[in-house]
Amino acid sequence: MKHFKETLYDAVCQEFRIDKIYFESKTEHQHLMIFHNAQLGRVMTLDGVVQTTEADEFIYHEMMAHVPILAHGKVKKLLIIGGGDGGMLREVLRHADIEVTQVEIDQAVIDMSIQYLPNHSQGAYANPRATIVIGDGMDFVRNSDEKFDVIISDSTDPIGPGEVLFSEDFYALAKARLTEGGIIATQNGVPFFQQDELINTHKRMGMHFNDTTFYSAAIPTYYGGIMTFAWGTDNIKLRQTPLATLEQRFQAAGIKTRYYNPAIHQAAFALPQYLLDTLATG
Ligand code: SAM
Repeated sequence: MKHFKETLYDAVCQEFRIDKIYFESKTEHQHLMIFHNAQLGRVMTLDGVVQTTEADEFIYHEMMAHVPILAHGKVKKLLIIGGGDGGMLREVLRHADIEVTQVEIDQAVIDMSIQYLPNHSQGAYANPRATIVIGDGMDFVRNSDEKFDVIISDSTDPIGPGEVLFSEDFYALAKARLTEGGIIATQNGVPFFQQDELINTHKRMGMHFNDTTFYSAAIPTYYGGIMTFAWGTDNIKLRQTPLATLEQRFQAAGIKTRYYNPAIHQAAFALPQYLLDTLATG
């Protein structure tokens, strides 16, 4: 019986049984595999690291999409960087007024996801409100003159092509692409194992925004406890958007979710003491 053994950490790892391989190949940028696991459904890995699974993707995508969108309240233009599996595009397009640009470096991830992970994008790549750019997210924020109300960085970990998306330059250039009071939210790893990522993002993003913090959710296949999402904005009130406002916006959006709700949204900004201590001393 074949197993996939994740290679993200040196001293610990998780292992999934491979029940069927749909696709495995080296793309122009990374090693991509999509397989089936009886517990998790279809699983995508890049360079030996789990990216997304059918069973728990809703937690990640709902929390990365709806938290910044509903905290902001007036999003018209949104930029996704990465996110080739299409789950983020699907989720943000559920807000009927939003036009989305997605910049993904690897065309093969999009193509193979449409073919073998169709439940992620659910047709989102054909939506006329979506513009897809194949390219490096760093180059895009450097060269574009467009402005966005929200930027979501749905990237791989800071190894390989995703590394630049965790640099201070990236946060500075992304800031210049935001409208006034806009928000950037980024995938920031599992801090129990990836403490440096938390400390580095806090420092690097913190140099460019009045408010830099993290919110969190536990996503089973990003194992090791909670995952953090970095949050950068110049509007310090947005992370404390009142519950009644979130409820009213959520209702008006008419979206049915499986993880996100306004109470979870608010609670997600409360961080455990060990992380607050790390941020204070790191
Ligand atoms: N949810 C996942 C996670 O938390 O690990 C991320 C999934 S998504 C598949 C990550 C995407 O980021 C990949 O498709 C990868 O090709 C893309 N990516 C990595 N570096 C990038 C870059 N510099 N510019 C644009 N896209 C990038």
